[in-house]
Amino acid sequence: MLRKASIVLLILYSGLLFAQTQAVPLKNGESSAYMGGTVALNHVYVSIEDLSSALGLRRFSLGSTGKVSVYSNSGSILFTPDNSFITLSKAAVPKTYQLPLPILENGGKLYAPASFIGPYLTEILGGVLRYDELTRAFTYMQRDSLTPMITDVRVQQKDNGSVVHISLSSLPKAEDAALGEDGMLYVTIMPATFNFEKLNSLPPTSVYSNVLAIQNPSSVQLSFRLKKAYNSEEVYTDSSTNSVVVNLYSHVSSKTILSDELRQKLDAEKKNWKLDVIVIDPGHGGKDPGAIGLGGVEEKNVTLAIGKDLRNDLRERLPKVKVVMTRDKDEFVPLDMRGEIANQAAGKLFISIHCNSMPHKPDGAHGLETYFLRPGKTEEAIRIAAQENAAIKYENDYEKKYRSYDADNLILTSMAHSAYVKYSERFAELIEQDVSSITPLTNDGVGQAGFLVLIGASMPAVLVETGYLSNPHDVRFLRSKVGQNKIARGITEAIIQFRAEYEKNFAQE
Ligand SMILES: [Zn+2]
Repeated sequence: MLRKASIVLLILYSGLLFAQTQAVPLKNGESSAYMGGTVALNHVYVSIEDLSSALGLRRFSLGSTGKVSVYSNSGSILFTPDNSFITLSKAAVPKTYQLPLPILENGGKLYAPASFIGPYLTEILGGVLRYDELTRAFTYMQRDSLTPMITDVRVQQKDNGSVVHISLSSLPKAEDAALGEDGMLYVTIMPATFNFEKLNSLPPTSVYSNVLAIQNPSSVQLSFRLKKAYNSEEVYTDSSTNSVVVNLYSHVSSKTILSDELRQKLDAEKKNWKLDVIVIDPGHGGKDPGAIGLGGVEEKNVTLAIGKDLRNDLRERLPKVKVVMTRDKDEFVPLDMRGEIANQAAGKLFISIHCNSMPHKPDGAHGLETYFLRPGKTEEAIRIAAQENAAIKYENDYEKKYRSYDADNLILTSMAHSAYVKYSERFAELIEQDVSSITPLTNDGVGQAGFLVLIGASMPAVLVETGYLSNPHDVRFLRSKVGQNKIARGITEAIIQFRAEYEKNFAQE
């Protein structure tokens, strides 16, 4: 049983090993290379020599100091053994950065922490180097094959209005700008991507007080809160500077006409951000009972009861929102089908309901834990993910079926998920707060781990462990009608608050 599940569990468990040799893949278009690596300090480390060779960078060692410089025509990076400071030089200007983990030396070779090195090497490469935590692989993308990246926003005051310049790494296919009645300017650029931290922390300017950037499946929407009212807007691309330019006029002018097809496509993308379908996933079911708790209570029955209560609450409180359940009776639904059901229903939020349990009962561990999809950080999170993922053993052919999660598929899904991580994390926080505030369940915090059921759902997704069936106090509450009602009500509050935050600034019709 363990050997069969090892394809899946390898991803979850390898973070626990120390100083184990590990080949690190680099995907570059159609080709793959494997670089030497090791696991140290609970992180994957990659050979700087192998990585720079694979990327076509040159390299020299600084004699007895053990320092290594990696360089291209556009700059260099200096690595020092057992030191977390690296020096990046571009156009002969050196700047020092501190990595969260040190560069390590092993057998005369230097190793860099794979998770943190990509952005710095990208600075001296022609393309973008990314490391994916879930698949433990690097991906290198040439610039010309990249989606236009929004790099900066600047403003300019003119006599008859204002100008907003949005700089990109290359020209997008389509752009749209609309003034909202609420003093907002909405700009949609397709296709595009952006740096989340940077764009959502732009300082106020003379034209707007803040900017909110959202990644849609193939476009970016920027919402500017304007400082004054304008009568009309006009948008165009400036190919000489790779920018989208929005002119805001105090007087009325003619509007740019978009083709019907592009207009429809942009409108459809905007609607994607209405939180109008919520998917409830009661864990386990049918031949898979889930955890068996004190007094023989089965997890599958508790999760279904809470799921149904949640559905009823949502129908009452959010009558315009469609509620979809992955199961509404005691039946077996494979893990990958659950994400599939959510995607087919065009779900905008996915919540998987579970109960925790310890191997020995009774046990003191108690409380509510909420998870979103990211490689497991703590031993406890990894244990719980492995326990929930073990549900695949009830499926026929699971070995063949989940093998794809080990390869390219996982890179794609985890990349698709990265757009939702911030939202999933926020939703998880709200569940913790709202459920623990109206139940005796303690707030045990938000965690991250590789839950298979969350991988398939292309939307913000969380898994909530609503207390421990192995704990005498938790189980009494979990199996009671009152307890199930209260947990559902707490989750409903969290959904209502999340939906309000999520749709704020985007719900223009
Ligand atoms: Zn479960």
